[in-house]
Order: sequence, then structure tokens, then C-alpha cells
Amino acid sequence: MPKPVVAIVGRPNVGKSTIFNRIVGERIAIVEDKPGVTRDRIYGPGEWLNHEFHVIDTGGIDVGDEPLLAQMRYQAELAIDEADVIVFVVNGRDGITGADEEVAQMLFRSKKPVVLGVNKMDDPSLHEKMYEFYSLGIGDPVAISGSHGLGLGDLLDSVAEHFPKEGDDDYDEDTIRISLIGRPNVGKSSLVNAILGEDRVIVSDIPGTTRDAIDTPFEKDGQDYVIIDTAGMRKKGKVYESTEKYSVIRAMRAIERSDVVLMVINGEEGMIEQDKRIAGYAHEEGRAVIIVVNKWDAVEKDDSTLREFEQKIRDEFLFMDYAPLVFVSAKTKQRLHKILPMVNEVSEFHNQRVPTNVLNDLIVDAVTMNPTPTDHGGRRLKINYATQVAVAPPTFVLFVNDPELLHFSYRRYLENKIRDTFTFTGTPIRILARKKN
Ligand code: GDP
Ligand code: GDP
Repeated sequence: MPKPVVAIVGRPNVGKSTIFNRIVGERIAIVEDKPGVTRDRIYGPGEWLNHEFHVIDTGGIDVGDEPLLAQMRYQAELAIDEADVIVFVVNGRDGITGADEEVAQMLFRSKKPVVLGVNKMDDPSLHEKMYEFYSLGIGDPVAISGSHGLGLGDLLDSVAEHFPKEGDDDYDEDTIRISLIGRPNVGKSSLVNAILGEDRVIVSDIPGTTRDAIDTPFEKDGQDYVIIDTAGMRKKGKVYESTEKYSVIRAMRAIERSDVVLMVINGEEGMIEQDKRIAGYAHEEGRAVIIVVNKWDAVEKDDSTLREFEQKIRDEFLFMDYAPLVFVSAKTKQRLHKILPMVNEVSEFHNQRVPTNVLNDLIVDAVTMNPTPTDHGGRRLKINYATQVAVAPPTFVLFVNDPELLHFSYRRYLENKIRDTFTFTGTPIRILARKKN
């Protein structure tokens, strides 16, 4: 189930980024952990009443030196195309302006759920100014004060009411959902077309549609697949689509909807920071990953090129040493036939269940070979029992005397032992520690 997207729109200076920061709070997105990116925070994670969602501050999207109305149109267009719920912010002290009316019209016509936030209502004496905003025709305005943190709970209550209900992504459980993630021009569309053009691939006549995404279901050798969210690739050319910041959110959503992520890298260029952040998101969300190095035809090669490139990627993606790599060319079709078998393989490992007795024997052996750590007081980690509690990603629980004693390095050691025995190619695995009662 993908997380809903909430977009904040409104004129400059009405308080969008103040509200955005309140919602995102201290929870800095993984995608923003580098200097430079934090300065223009545009999207981030939000949470309200057990709902997780993405927030976009459309005011932060750079649309160049366009006049105000044109900028607002871009923002509204982005919000309408991409968000599940739009928060339209106006300045309660200014009253309704021409630009507000224009945006209200666009939002109204789109039929997307809109919550109207009347900002800068810092104290109740200002609330009588609220009434005029009913005339915008988009429902009950909510009085808020971004800078004082007032009314935001009411605002988010209204927002959460419009979140899509569970289970609207209704592909068969056996269908493998694939997404192709990567920067513009790495060859994602070309790869999709090449895969769909392969022998024995039967593309369904009826595209799968889930909310605003248009997916491509297909079958090969009796296995059902769906390529997620190619609509995003088709939307090329829209102004906001060219901003890199924006494409990250699109990638995160596609990742949330998929089982297997094909992380596409341009062999001519190598990877950039953004590739790593997006791969990091796939890892955190527990998706299976294959790193696809495309345009390999265009790379000048000698005996060591492939090995060197692979090493470079391994160094960059240390946290996903489990992800297999494949060097392909959508143009010459080189090694393309390997992709779907690899998808099948990683999907199998993503869903692999291991027998509890074998797992426990393995843990006992691992502990014998390399004793569990102790803390400063000499207390030693004791693992009583291990069991796999989930698949996709495979998740293990260790029942221990004190979860605090399981440090990163020992967890890593156990992960490697588990991988030595059960392989788990292409999938992250999670190891949790619980206190034994
Ligand atoms: P944006 O351009 O829509 O993102 O607006 P900002 O969040 O940058 O806010 C513009 C100005 O309004 C800043 O000086 C804020 O401190 C101020 N501001 C934001 N929210 C409130 C509020 O609730 N009350 C008051 N009085 N000022 C606010
Ligand atoms: P997307 O933006 O990631 O969907 O990339 P496209 O599939 O639109 O491809 C971008 C450009 O790269 C196009 O001009 C393609 O023809 C070219 N391209 C795609 N795959 C390959 C490849 O394997 N080799 C070469 N040489 N060019 C490619």
C-alpha cells in the first residue's frame, strides 16, 4: 500500500513552508540527509493518527522566473496530478485575492479532495475573518496558525479523511510488481519497451489502473507481472517533471507499490547521490532490488571495465551488497533476457521462509564460532530462540535477554550467517530483537 501524498499549494508568503515544517517536524527524510538539500526542503514524511504520508511543498518547486499566476498554475497542476489530497493555504489576514480565486477554480475543477487552510489565525479574535473564505467554494475552511502551531490537528484530521482506503491496489498476490527507478534519460522507457517486446511476453490488453497510475500487466512463461506506474514516464514534458526534487517523490511512490525495484543506472555516467538516496529508500522499505546498468553498449570497454564499474557500485551501495547487478543495453538487447529470470529469483528470496529448526541451529553455530557481545558491565547477550515472523522482506525475531545488547556489528554478523545458509539474493532482511518474557 503506497503512502498517500499531500501537496500544499498557495500564494507565496501565505505560510506554506512554515506549515510544511510543522508537519514534517524533526522527522527529516532520508532523502534529505545531505548538506545543501536541507536548505530547500520540498518533500518529507508526515504522520498523523497512524497514517504515514508524503508532504510536498509545491512552493519550493523551482519553476523559473515565471509570473505569479503561471507559477501558481504549475504548482496546482503538480498537486492535481500527483497528490491524493491538496491543502490549499490562504492568508486569513489578506482576505481573498485574485490569485486565490484562480487556484481555487483549478482545484475545484480537478475534483481532487481539497482542504482549505486559512493561515495566520494566530488568535481567536481573528476568526471572524474566516467567513469570507466559504465563497471560494471548496468547503469548510480550517483556521490555522503555522507559526504558532494552532489548528494543524484539525487540518490533518480533514486531510486524513480523504486518504484512499486500504486495498485499492488489487493485483493478484502472485503477480510480481516491478518498478524501474532512475533519473531521466537512463533508459527506463526503452527498457520497459524492450522487456515487453521480448519473445513469449504477453501484454494484457487492459492496462491496470490504480488511482492516477497506469500500470502494464503482462505474462511470461506462466508468471504474471505488472510494471508499475509507467504513467509517470509518459507524463514527460510537464514543467515540474524536469525538476529532480520532484522526481524523487515519484520514485518513492513507485517503490512503495512494487515488490521488485529495478534500479536503473546509466553505464556511461555512473551513479549520483540521488541514485543512492532512492536505493536507500527501497532498502528501508524492504523491497527486493536489482541494479541494472543500462547503455552498456555505449561504454568503451577493456578487460577490467566491468569489474571496475561493479566495484564502484559496490562501494557506493555498501548497504545493499545483496542486490545483484546486470549490465544491459536496451538498444542492442544485450543481456536483457536475464532481467525477468533475475526478477523471479529475487522475488522468490523476498518471499522465502526458512524452517525454524534450521534457523535455530544456525544461530547456535554462529554464537559458538563468534560469542555474543557483552556490555561495559560484562553482561552478555543471550539469544534464546529465533524465528522468522514475516516475508517480503524476510524478517526475523530473536528472543533475547536484553535487546540493547544486540549491536549493529553483531546483527550484521548474524545477517551474514543467515545469508551464507539461505542466500536471500536481492532482498534486504530484517533482524529484530525482543525481550524474552
Ligand atoms: P510560503 O512562501 O507560503 O512558504 O510562506 P512562509 O512559510 O515562508 O511564510 C511567510 C511568512 O509568514 C514568514 O515570515 C512566516 O514567519 C510567516 N507566517 C507563517 N505562518 C504564520 C502564521 O501562522 N502567523 C503569522 N503571523 N505569520 C506566519
Ligand atoms: P528514461 O527517461 O529513463 O525513460 O529514458 P529513455 O528510455 O527515454 O531513454 C533516453 C535516451 O537514451 C533515448 O534517447 C534512448 O534512445 C537512449 N537509450 C536508452 N537505452 C539505451 C541503451 O541501452 N544504449 C544507448 N546507447 N542508448 C540508450
